[in-house]
Amino acid sequence: MNRVYIKTYGCQMNERDSDEVAARLRERGYSIVDSEHEADIVLINTCTVRDLPEQKAFGKAGRLQKFKRKNPDFILGIIGCMAQTRKESLLDRLPDLDLIIGTQKFHRVADHLDHLIATRRGQGPKPATLVDVEEEAGSQETISSQPPVGMAGKKVSAFVSIMQGCNMNCHFCHVPQARGKERSRSIPSIIEEVQQLVASGVKEVTLLGQIVTSYGRREIDFVTQKSPFVQLLEQLEALDGLERIRFTSPHPRGFKDDLIACYGRLKKLCEHVHLPAQSFSNAVLRAMNRPYTVERYCDLVDKLRAIQPEISFSTDIIVGYPGETEEDFALTSHYFDQIGFDMAFIFKYSERPNTFAATLKDSVPEAEKQRRNQLLLDILAKHSLKHHQSLIGRTQEVLVEGPAKRGDNMLVGRTRTYRKVIFEGQPRLIGQLVPVYIDTATTTSLGGSLVVREA
Ligand code: SAH
Repeated sequence: MNRVYIKTYGCQMNERDSDEVAARLRERGYSIVDSEHEADIVLINTCTVRDLPEQKAFGKAGRLQKFKRKNPDFILGIIGCMAQTRKESLLDRLPDLDLIIGTQKFHRVADHLDHLIATRRGQGPKPATLVDVEEEAGSQETISSQPPVGMAGKKVSAFVSIMQGCNMNCHFCHVPQARGKERSRSIPSIIEEVQQLVASGVKEVTLLGQIVTSYGRREIDFVTQKSPFVQLLEQLEALDGLERIRFTSPHPRGFKDDLIACYGRLKKLCEHVHLPAQSFSNAVLRAMNRPYTVERYCDLVDKLRAIQPEISFSTDIIVGYPGETEEDFALTSHYFDQIGFDMAFIFKYSERPNTFAATLKDSVPEAEKQRRNQLLLDILAKHSLKHHQSLIGRTQEVLVEGPAKRGDNMLVGRTRTYRKVIFEGQPRLIGQLVPVYIDTATTTSLGGSLVVREA
């Protein structure tokens, strides 16, 4: 009665939250399984950022309710963003749910499951659904739990949540409703977590937050004109054994000179910046309540390229925001092409409940959203391939993450610029930084061969 399958939808933060829930459940004696068919308990960790992942979660939960009808002991829970935003109203569509647990309560999932199982023994009528979606002061400090040393297996790269919530008010966005107000962890608690990760073999961390450039701005003072986020990066740079630092997502407004300068002096900070733009039309940015201009964005890109010419950029774009005209989109595709992103997430605008944009007419027809989406994807493929081809004949430092999906003795890893590289090598190289000579390129990955150093 203790096999748990956790199905995760959405972003890296959700993945990290699921990992934490899994780690805490293992500590309590639950086992984590790979499929719902092997499980006594299924937890669906959900995403509300667009309609599609919500519909997928509803579909999944609806199918799993049938398991419950066959086996009354089966436990089904919805956790995370949909639990937070929809609360008890989830029961309108999913009356058989046992648990609804919000985004500030991941650390309580194990307690709730223990309780549910204990109170079910001896049976009786189905107990009321357990709903825990309150705000919890200090819950940002509960997000530090990583699998204890020794249990992380061969994890090479880890996500580390440095803050929760978001205080921005982007007119399209549901995240503040799902994740609450911005709260940051302390620097010592983050450093301690990363030290533990490094001790368990992790070489690379990706710091996570909705707007990492706002990290600690209420809790931590500037020191010698350095923001709390830059102070955190400096302390991570000094950690022995940690090789690479990444983060997501910064905000163009908060990406100040102290952070730009880090790309010239912090050796572990990887040459890749994920900088969500959303649009390259100032009119649309204003309508979205994104407080920066296209000029500011391009200036930032130029400054970063000046200090670190190898830097690679990725972004998020929304196409078909209410009122986005053909001219607005032409600007977006122009700058998207000109900046030359290596990677991007292109989203079709999706109306979200209780957002300002939901009061506007969703004016761009679906087919037109699709056309704009595809146009940007085509531009992206062109740049991705061009960048990859430019690496042919060069040697790149690759952090080996694991065996490649296809091919015997093939390994997969990432360059510092986050490009995927596939090459032949022994499994003992997993977790190491190795030089790889690049000889092939596609839009999505690079191929190469290990450079054997002379003894
Ligand atoms: N806090 C991050 C965004 C997190 S959501 C930031 O401000 O950069 C991740 C991405 O989902 C956003 O960057 C945006 O491109 C997309 N997104 C958010 N709301 C959306 C909506 N209503 N429709 C379509 N895409 C959306």
